[in-house]
Amino acid sequence: MATADIALIGLAVMGQNLIMNMNDHGFVVCAYNRTVSKVIGAESLEDMVSKLKTPRRIILLVKAGQAVDDFIDKLVPLLEAGDIIIDGGNSEYRDTTRRCKSLREKGLLFVGSGVSGGEEGARYGPSLMPGGHKEAWPHLKEIFQSIAAKVGTGEPCCDWVGDEGAGHFVKMVHNGIEYGDMQLICEAYHLMKDVLGMDHDEMAQAFDRWNKTELDSFLIEITANIFKYRDSDGTHLLPKIRDSAGQKGTGKWTAISALEYGTPVTLIGEAVFARCLSSLKDERVEASRSLSGPQGVKFSGDKAAFLEDIRKALYASKIISYAQGFMLLRQAAKEFGWSLNYGAIALMWRGGCIIRSVFLGKIKEAFDRDAELQSLLLDSFFSNAVQDCQESWRRTVSTGVQHGIPMPCFTTALSFYDGYRTEKLPANLLQAQRDYFGAHTYELLSDPGHFIHTNWTGHG
Ligand code: NAP
Repeated sequence: MATADIALIGLAVMGQNLIMNMNDHGFVVCAYNRTVSKVIGAESLEDMVSKLKTPRRIILLVKAGQAVDDFIDKLVPLLEAGDIIIDGGNSEYRDTTRRCKSLREKGLLFVGSGVSGGEEGARYGPSLMPGGHKEAWPHLKEIFQSIAAKVGTGEPCCDWVGDEGAGHFVKMVHNGIEYGDMQLICEAYHLMKDVLGMDHDEMAQAFDRWNKTELDSFLIEITANIFKYRDSDGTHLLPKIRDSAGQKGTGKWTAISALEYGTPVTLIGEAVFARCLSSLKDERVEASRSLSGPQGVKFSGDKAAFLEDIRKALYASKIISYAQGFMLLRQAAKEFGWSLNYGAIALMWRGGCIIRSVFLGKIKEAFDRDAELQSLLLDSFFSNAVQDCQESWRRTVSTGVQHGIPMPCFTTALSFYDGYRTEKLPANLLQAQRDYFGAHTYELLSDPGHFIHTNWTGHG
């Protein structure tokens, strides 16, 4: 008998928790897994499909890649026109666009939904970013918005994102921003530890304090807890952890997209490279024995004031990172003809996910003020915030450089800011060089749009 509201395929961490979440909200879920010994509800895909109310709604939460295509191939012959397949895994957005096209030809609806917040989020309220065939949304909205995280006066961290792979694109950018936020915190930690000589308890206190400021966020909160955590021998665990970072690839995808669409998302790029550099642990250990940095530099200023400088540098850099992330979303929207609701995206990230923060509420407000805002930096709240942080940010970067502390994200953020606010960059010289050696032509300031070539050597 058709009694289930929705089916879910993939009973690993995410799938199991999402089922319990849907149950909590009164939805009957029919579950299926490739390895049938783990099956709770359905013995076969046929059995699962027969238990579903129409239009059938089936969520895949399986490993991204071939597994998604394999399940789609198996489901297609069992479904009818108007039925909906949802991919909640971390799929690449181009795969989602491809699947949208191929399922459209078969009369089926397809939705690629970013799901963020890990195990805890899946269980108690994830951030959900659905995109694809919009006709599917009225059939999913109630379930999705019920199970999503809530913020403010109960607003769900889930809304329709856009066509094709837009949902997975937004999830990818979210993950890239997460890389940036984490690296910025790590750079603040490095400065606190090696310039100010703060111990773990002092750093925990600072982060607890920072969490009551504009930086109020999940990542600042857990960082304070990490500083406090002691191993079974009573000493802090953090300094014992090998300083070699792993990555699963979504930060890298964001950086690749940024390069592909020519958008200067420099901070996420640097955050990815910082992980790459950290992973060269053995090479760094070797290099540390022969390469020297600044000698005998000791911090002699006001420690409390410099700690506040670091906090402001972190805040300003974070604003740059989000400004860059939203620039990439705008560029992708242009590239693919998606109509993205940027304020709704900020709200989707406001709760439920790893980058959740009070700050995202401010971004939502900026897009409420101007839905077509070209850059967050041009919104008065953020331009004033950067202005307020600017001196601290510059002091932090210059002091860090003098002490030989690597700060790839703090510095790239500041360079981006200085580049973005500069009317005349030295790219006139670049154009001249390109024309000199490759006859690539250039435009004159006085005659934009008209490209000319100069014979720079004066020969023939
Ligand atoms: P996972 O480890 O990514 O995948 C395990 C699930 O995929 C199992 O149900 C497994 O079935 C199935 N599977 C793997 N290869 C398969 C194949 N070739 N054919 C059919 N089924 C196959 O599980 P997860 O961590 O729960 O994540 C599910 C999805 O959500 C992934 O795309 C992941 O990237 C995404 N995601 C995960 C998190 C997280 O925190 N874990 C957060 C956000 C998004 P068997 O039991 O038969 O092996």
